[in-house]
Amino acid sequence: MKKMIYLDNAATTQVAPEALDAMIPYFTEFYGNPSSIYSFAGEAKKAMEEARRTLAAGIGAKPEEIYFTGGGSEADNWALKGAAEAYAAKGKHIITTRIEHHAILHTAEYLEKNGCEVTYLDVDENGLVSPEAVKAAIRPGTILISVMMANNEIGTVEPIREIGEIAREQGILFHTDAVQAFGHLPINVEEMNIDLLSASAHKLNGPKGVGFLYIRQGLKLRAFLHGGAQERQRRAGTHNTAGIVGFGKAAELAFHSMEQRAAYETKLRDYLIERVLTEIPYTRLNGDRTKRLPGNASFCFRFIEGESLLILLDQNGICASSGSACTSGALEPSHVLLAIGLPHEIAHGSLRISLSDKTTKEEIDFTVDRIKEIVERLRNMSPLYEDFVKKNG
Ligand SMILES: *Cc1c(COP(=O)(O)O)cnc(C)c1O
Repeated sequence: MKKMIYLDNAATTQVAPEALDAMIPYFTEFYGNPSSIYSFAGEAKKAMEEARRTLAAGIGAKPEEIYFTGGGSEADNWALKGAAEAYAAKGKHIITTRIEHHAILHTAEYLEKNGCEVTYLDVDENGLVSPEAVKAAIRPGTILISVMMANNEIGTVEPIREIGEIAREQGILFHTDAVQAFGHLPINVEEMNIDLLSASAHKLNGPKGVGFLYIRQGLKLRAFLHGGAQERQRRAGTHNTAGIVGFGKAAELAFHSMEQRAAYETKLRDYLIERVLTEIPYTRLNGDRTKRLPGNASFCFRFIEGESLLILLDQNGICASSGSACTSGALEPSHVLLAIGLPHEIAHGSLRISLSDKTTKEEIDFTVDRIKEIVERLRNMSPLYEDFVKKNG
């Protein structure tokens, strides 16, 4: 097999060797159920609580405000459904945005079917949510504002602090899906006025299938899974001890290296963006130029299909992603690209490249060279492009 170039770190990341090493003893040696009372189980419980302290400290929270879940999607579901149920007497209006992850959007649609009213805020051409628009959408009966910290497709980082301030002033709960931001950008739930926050281990070199929901102390929120008394009676189910330990270790590494990693990825990302935009005509960058995740570059190439581009990149050993999601058999362009105002035909030609701190300049150069060739090849087969070139000389 050819050497693989992995540029889809927004989809998932490789588990850090240190995180894997930390996990193994909780499969082999300390396999006790952390809820059991004998001292053997205490080893697992101790390690789990240490992970909880690390994760909490990373966002300026208390350990008892961290509730482990089976990942980011569960945390998002819990935040919305749990708040809607707990605050039903206060109101049934929720404010969110058009560019959220489907774990939020599909949950919001589910809640609408069950009597909630949801406002989906528009964003500007760079994917930014306006704090003023959030404020204007608040009405009597608004119980929750949910705005993601950073977008998974176009990388835009939202003005969370400003939105948090508005939520606090108005006495409304504020949730943020920080799955893309956690471990990559500095977060402080106090300074940012965040009441609920979702995170997931596998986006920061931890294992898949484990995440957490931060729930501000004193906040009412319905239990999501019923059963045992785990997670202070709010999330039943035997703990994923090894996963939690791996999450803690991955987060510890991510917090320590955050600044340096962000600087490295930002520099490489900007080099990639610069090369693509100057060397490939009829190309646009999606998302804000500077308010963006260090590792994210998202483009649209006119006159091509993102899917074809991905397949041809794959033949060159390059893993990337397009914004499109295959829904109901038809290829729908990404809801995020439509929300920033792109017409369907442009949104279809999207490519997301997401870097890690292991990505090298050589890999980026190889990838840009391949993208150039492939885009040219695909355009030469496109009747639309042919017409366009004829018309524009
Ligand atoms: C990946 C992702 C999720 C889902 O997290 P899982 O742990 O994969 O369930 C939710 N929100 C955002 C922004 C994501 O990028």
